[in-house]
Amino acid sequence: MLIRASEATEVSIAGLPHRVERVPDLVRDRDALGEFCLVKGLIRLDEGLTVDLGEAAFVHEVTEALNVYLGLGLNHRQIVALSKGWHQVLRDNGLIFGAGRGG
Ligand SMILES: [Zn+2]
Repeated sequence: MLIRASEATEVSIAGLPHRVERVPDLVRDRDALGEFCLVKGLIRLDEGLTVDLGEAAFVHEVTEALNVYLGLGLNHRQIVALSKGWHQVLRDNGLIFGAGRGG
């Protein structure tokens, strides 16, 4: 089954399950489009974002998580750049990975 990134409620990162929640007022209260919580295995995204911005925030938070789990040592500028690059490639090419999972 295919799941749009903008609708995902779970995502496996580095083989670990993470919940994905859309919450109100993250931008207003935390000055962030999204956030990644290592302890809770949780990605939170502001529910008021456009689909494109929400997906960009999703890729950004996954990149934040990978930076931690894989010990990459990226600074935030690098995380921003890498996640913007990945988001563009994935969005504009509609690439699907994982043989047999597409139904
Ligand atoms: Zn960030």
